[in-house]
Amino acid sequence: MLNVFPRIPSPQTAQALHLAEQLESLARGPVAAQRAVQGRQLAALLRHARAHAPFWRARIDEATRRGNGQLQFDALPVLTRADLQTHFEQLRARSDELDARAISTARTSGSTGVPVAVERYAPLHEALYRAVMALEDRWSGRDGDTVTAVVRDAPDRAPTAGETWDGHRRATHVRNLIAHTPQALLDWLRAVRPTDLVTTPAMARRIAALALDDGGGPLPMQRVLTFGEVVDADTRHLVRAAFGARIVDRYTCEETGWIALQCPRHDHLHVLSGSVLVEIVDDAGRPCRPGEVGQVLLTGLHSFAMPLLRYALGDLAEAGGPCDCGLHLPVIRRVLGRERSFLRMPDGRLRLARLTGEHWRAVAPVREYRLVQYGDGLVEAFVTAARPLSPAELDALGAMLRTTLDPGLQIVVTPCDSLAPLARWKHIDVLRVDGPRPATAADLARQLTRDPPPPATGTRHDP
Ligand SMILES: [Zn+2]
Repeated sequence: MLNVFPRIPSPQTAQALHLAEQLESLARGPVAAQRAVQGRQLAALLRHARAHAPFWRARIDEATRRGNGQLQFDALPVLTRADLQTHFEQLRARSDELDARAISTARTSGSTGVPVAVERYAPLHEALYRAVMALEDRWSGRDGDTVTAVVRDAPDRAPTAGETWDGHRRATHVRNLIAHTPQALLDWLRAVRPTDLVTTPAMARRIAALALDDGGGPLPMQRVLTFGEVVDADTRHLVRAAFGARIVDRYTCEETGWIALQCPRHDHLHVLSGSVLVEIVDDAGRPCRPGEVGQVLLTGLHSFAMPLLRYALGDLAEAGGPCDCGLHLPVIRRVLGRERSFLRMPDGRLRLARLTGEHWRAVAPVREYRLVQYGDGLVEAFVTAARPLSPAELDALGAMLRTTLDPGLQIVVTPCDSLAPLARWKHIDVLRVDGPRPATAADLARQLTRDPPPPATGTRHDP
């Protein structure tokens, strides 16, 4: 493009900016107006789903019959991953309005090991995806010249330079997450001197801890943008201490793309109501009040190729109240993670196991641990230690776990030489598996291989 003023953005960029403008004005408008827009969009999606997808015709008609001729949206049963796996064909909605050549398929690995496939309509999905990227830049204050370092599951890439629509320069450097040691990545970051780092929370934590420790001097950045896992308060503090940077988190999934962006002022997330409807519901299916934790149900308001209505993503999240930042979008106070990484307490509640290395080391020289809960509620703690642990120490660890988690839990502590068979759960401390405790640890490892781990939360973000 010619280097002129005023800047003339490319058609694609112009479209993204225009859509971002509409999304922002909806976000700043009154809640009643947001509900009205969502209601109209939802009605169009329901009409389309009923007319063109046999699966939805049956469900919508049944829910309408039970409502004496009225369809209440929350009377529709929850759409499960199992539904997606078994009714793929019947869930597709084809009409003359959709160009079949522009439908793409997204795949995610499910907690049962059977991947879930979802079809998306690219002209809507991709345009919205770019628009939300523009919105995130705005809300996170990323509006000048930037140098972005990306550490993720992508091949190393030579730096690319670009210019944004308003004339700012953008450079992007990419390193693979696995191919380099954290120390090598830190040295690379010191050479690149990025304004922004895009990576997983776990990697941000490791590099931040190293940077504070290795005597290489300060490494100032403006933002660390995270994806793919739950961000906890410790990680935010560590990143602030090491880089002087704010963590900007986002909540996405392969099935619908963006779900929520971090608030410009606070650490919680704002639901992107222009493109998704998020419900957080308790075990009885009732909407959670602020401060309550429930499962996330997602409706993709532009999921015309394969309507996703009240889809249970498998995440648990805490609902939030109104925000004072000027955005009137619903608040997700935090995403807690995948349901299967929670322990089920004797009274049936799901609870995030809050354990740190200190809990263990106060009792015995434990190096690593993983908790597995079986179908009958029994919790097995696998531990490795600096030296063989005595029976008294193993008992003391069991007592520590009961005190910390719940006195009613049945717990066994199993020392092992290596957690390698369980290593696939690198960032997941707790895993619930179906069925009883296998006879041996080797049997469990085999069962776990058949049943791969769920991703920690949300599954993708392209920086
Ligand atoms: Zn806010």
